[in-house]
Amino acid sequence: MNDPHRKTREQAHSVQDLLRELFPGTHRELFGARDSDSPPTLGLYPVADGRLALVHGDQLAEFTPIEQKGKNALHCDLCHYTRSRSEALMYRVTIGARRSRYVTLCTPTEPCQGRAGARGLHAFAERIFPIEPIGPDEH
Ligand SMILES: [Zn+2]
Repeated sequence: MNDPHRKTREQAHSVQDLLRELFPGTHRELFGARDSDSPPTLGLYPVADGRLALVHGDQLAEFTPIEQKGKNALHCDLCHYTRSRSEALMYRVTIGARRSRYVTLCTPTEPCQGRAGARGLHAFAERIFPIEPIGPDEH
């Protein structure tokens, strides 16, 4: 109930979160070296219907695959490899009430994220977030 040890840990955690939110540069300087030990919640996860979810801390973006025209090669926006039509898909991400962004990603997302590395994934997340909250009557 009144475990002082636990309280300290929680406080340290929230300070770290706050720092990351307010001063991302400072946060990276202070905690960046520890990222490999305890990775922050950042990653792309396959969800239902071929969609992908990009999770970064408590933020979430949903990537919906869309039909593509033409036969040009695709350029993955995460690992920056050039892919054939069968190896990548274009996705739509809703980033605001009436704003969407289009990104191309390799279809096997795990090796893609491996090629991109933590740094690549971070840069990619920064292009997507923050997402504007969508009000109930703005759908
Ligand atoms: Zn890729």
